Amino acid sequence: MRILLVEDDELLGDGLQAGLRHCGFQADWLRDGESARTALQTEDYAAVVLDLGLPRLDGLGLLRVLRGGGNNIPVLVLTARDATSDKVIGLDSGADDYLVKPIDLDEVAARLRALIRRAGGQVTPMVTVGRLELDPAGRRVYLDGDRVDLPAKEYAILELLMRNAGKVISRGQLESALYGWDEGVESNAVEVYIHHLRRKLTPNCIRTLRGVGYLFEKSS
Ligand code: CA
Repeated sequence: MRILLVEDDELLGDGLQAGLRHCGFQADWLRDGESARTALQTEDYAAVVLDLGLPRLDGLGLLRVLRGGGNNIPVLVLTARDATSDKVIGLDSGADDYLVKPIDLDEVAARLRALIRRAGGQVTPMVTVGRLELDPAGRRVYLDGDRVDLPAKEYAILELLMRNAGKVISRGQLESALYGWDEGVESNAVEVYIHHLRRKLTPNCIRTLRGVGYLFEKSS
């Protein structure tokens, strides 16, 4: 899952980006609200981790712009402010959840998973489609109850497709879920991963719609 991290503190931002990646999120890191606003207009993210005290456009300002424009992306606010009034203002401005610094990385990751799950309308933490079951917390995949080991990028592709089972996902969306801005996209990478997934899971679980994208079959 691709996440946007907005934090102007170099040390904290660096630690959070590395920590989120370690927890299986592809995290892009920006240091001010205005750049984040632009990125959110052009890039696909599953959620935002947002500091409140930011240069150019602050976190509350960004939240108001997002919600005012009808963008309902899940937002987890991180802040040093621990006054109750600040939490209330943050939540009233459109934050979905709130963590006060110093923060625990495992808690950030768990709350992000919960926010993304709720945004996808899923009540249970496991994602089940046909014979396949996905455990996002442990990044594990089961076929008919048996564990299937997948490399991180194959897992990322499968998670996005399974969370959107029955819907067409474009190659661009899959590439965007795989790579941050600082990594190049190898041509045909998505096709190769899909080929591996079909071989390891079931041959017909992912349908190719030529020139349009890929679809995870609901009945696979
Ligand atoms: Ca700050």
